[in-house]
Amino acid sequence: MSVNHAAPGAPATSKGSGIPGVKHVVAVASGKGGVGKSTTSCNLALGFAASGLKVGILDADIYGPSQQKLFGLRGKPRMLGPRLLEPLERFGIKVMSIGFLVEENNAMIWRGAMVISAITQMLREVAWNDLDILVVDLPPGTGDAQLTMAQQTPLAGAVIVSTPQDLALIDAQRGIEMFRKVNVPILGLIENMSSFCCPACNHITPIFGHGGARDEAERRGIPFLGEIPLDISIRETSDDGRPIVATDPDSVHARRYIAIARQLWQSITTGAATKPAPRIVIE
Ligand code: ADP
Repeated sequence: MSVNHAAPGAPATSKGSGIPGVKHVVAVASGKGGVGKSTTSCNLALGFAASGLKVGILDADIYGPSQQKLFGLRGKPRMLGPRLLEPLERFGIKVMSIGFLVEENNAMIWRGAMVISAITQMLREVAWNDLDILVVDLPPGTGDAQLTMAQQTPLAGAVIVSTPQDLALIDAQRGIEMFRKVNVPILGLIENMSSFCCPACNHITPIFGHGGARDEAERRGIPFLGEIPLDISIRETSDDGRPIVATDPDSVHARRYIAIARQLWQSITTGAATKPAPRIVIE
């Protein structure tokens, strides 16, 4: 048995040149689709803005872009020069999504090199203009696009979104391992749909069991950022383009997203997450 600090001597953040006009880039990832990664990314971006930060969001989920829907945005970004796109803006957040540029069905058939080149362009050839933080909503899973992004972008860190089900946690573990391999700090794990909140009586039911993600985070020595319940108000506001943190910032759920964003900002700016916890390796 040996104690191993992830990739000793390696830089704490991933490689690649900085994104013009962006101070910090945070990737939001999940092991599989449908766990609420995009909803969480959107509300976290708004949570950062609630603290007075200048925020952008890049929808890199090329197979199923949804930030245009979450932000209630339509229309196409303008070209500001031969290669520079102007992001759209809503609720004070600059938004860029492949969903603005191609029909949803076309996006689904993109693969391999095209995906990577599209993500790189949307990251680097956009007039982000002076952002404190850019939230990147990654495609689900741990394929080439995610790996390239993790390797080529100077990420401040990654946030993993998981549901409490075991299967999702196994998938989430793959995501954690991928970021560790390329020396991207894991800023923490968020458990989404952690329990069901009945809209009629406010009774909370842990439909998928409870505490799985917190235990998994503890076991792996990564911060547990918090739980977001499965709640109709989150679903309705998201699907209507009125995200809860923007439209009902004092609600209990919005306050959770805002609290997680604050915690994340603190760990990004103090570098707390750049020191991975020692890992026990059985040999
Ligand atoms: P992913 O990006 O992981 O594929 P989405 O963010 O698109 O997942 O969410 C999938 C669906 O679940 C959407 O309809 C969304 O509104 C809903 N959803 C996400 N998080 C919650 C939540 N905490 N409570 C209720 N519905 C949610």
